[in-house]
Amino acid sequence: MDLQALWQASLGELELTLSKANFTTWFKNTFLGQIEDNKAVVCVPNTFTKAWLEKKYHDAILKALRNASNLPLREIAYRVEVRNTTVLPLDDAELAAVADDAQPYASIPEQTEPASTEFGLNPRYHFQNFIVGKSNELAHAACMAAAAKLGEVYNPLFLYGGAGMGKTHLLQAIGHHVLEKNPQARIRYVTCERFTNEFIQSVRGGRINEFKDNYRMADVLLIDDIQFLTGKEGTQEEFFHTFNALHQNNKQIVITSDRPPKDIQSLESRLLSRFEWGMMADISKPDFETRVAILQSKSKEKNYPLSTEILHAIAGAIQSNVRELEGALNKIVAYHQFKNCPPTLESVQPLLQSFSPTLTKRSLTPRVLLEAVMSYYEISMEEIIGKSRERRLAFPRQVAMYLLREEAKCSFPAIGEHLGGRDHTTAMHACKKVSGLLKGNDQLKRDLSIIRERLYSQPHSMRS
Ligand code: ADP
Ligand code: MG
Repeated sequence: MDLQALWQASLGELELTLSKANFTTWFKNTFLGQIEDNKAVVCVPNTFTKAWLEKKYHDAILKALRNASNLPLREIAYRVEVRNTTVLPLDDAELAAVADDAQPYASIPEQTEPASTEFGLNPRYHFQNFIVGKSNELAHAACMAAAAKLGEVYNPLFLYGGAGMGKTHLLQAIGHHVLEKNPQARIRYVTCERFTNEFIQSVRGGRINEFKDNYRMADVLLIDDIQFLTGKEGTQEEFFHTFNALHQNNKQIVITSDRPPKDIQSLESRLLSRFEWGMMADISKPDFETRVAILQSKSKEKNYPLSTEILHAIAGAIQSNVRELEGALNKIVAYHQFKNCPPTLESVQPLLQSFSPTLTKRSLTPRVLLEAVMSYYEISMEEIIGKSRERRLAFPRQVAMYLLREEAKCSFPAIGEHLGGRDHTTAMHACKKVSGLLKGNDQLKRDLSIIRERLYSQPHSMRS
């Protein structure tokens, strides 16, 4: 018996009785494994689909199979089996998260993240799977336009926004898009850190010309997280020349950063003005609808569709960082696959709790907070707790006191303690001063929101 043809015929019948969305959701990547003794084995890509088919569509499937085969079938068994399809990727963290309920690892279909392409691009970051909403539509449109007309419309294109907002995704989507149209295109995708390291290595190894050629030959330079150029004078200088060489030849340059150019500390003014030459587009936090749409798309990619109710619950619990949104989804999928049961609101809630901001805030220690402030202002622990009144140090110190009060809910005496044994009145004064300044100072507002974002952008469970 031709099982494939039989299944196709049955699907044809089923398709007529279901909505398109339901049909594709539940029957994509299914196949007929076997028919023996009037018993059919239907293979499905994951346990959730298995549960769903058993519960909701069993009768319809049986009927369709009987009609198509003309056999007096009595039984259907559903089996999780994957054939030539992608299955849910599980990484170590996800596995660990559900390890207490884990079945033997062998039962998990093997899946690894596809290797990145020759140009260091993540194969998952395309325009096609980037969800557009109000928060990112400008950045998205600018990237599409730049990719379509390299070097012509927006050059450079500068994207900025907080962690996990999709900057890297968009940046690499440009690379993929260009390569699809022209596989010969020379794409250079590089993080600023890697650029810096390569530069330093090449200087040390006497290979500076090789380094220069590599970047100056590019048709498209995609440089990620440029804020790390802060304080790296030699690299800034080199980057400046690379930039000019490419720009003069109308080669497209796209840059991302977690903040606008003028907020990148100690960025040489000639670089600053170059960055501001072209187009700047910011990406802000996605609104609720966009978050739901992103979740929907990601769960489809994973072959693990979720009900609207559950999508809403996730989107409601995680409001800012898309990476975290994805993390929550992964966790939920992995957990329910192991448990072998469909997700419900009750089963999902506890999994979301570790992502909720209140819990994260509760776990915030003064030490973690101080470190965030120190790293933002690039000062050391000695400096922040020290006695110097130099503005470079005194101001971050006041910001730290303010945040200890606001975020970590420390008492004034405790704040004084954390900052090298200062008096509680000093802490009070600092908090008052910073909250006063905040009323009119946009720069300070941005500084604080970046620091907060860094504090809260990591899921609680992952922070040490
Ligand atoms: P950033 O570089 O801004 O920190 P990323 O580009 O790394 O953020 O995005 C984090 C994760 O969120 C990635 O897996 C990315 O695919 C996903 N993501 C962010 N925004 C979107 C979006 N609008 N649509 C689909 N996926 C998104
Ligand atoms: Mg990034």
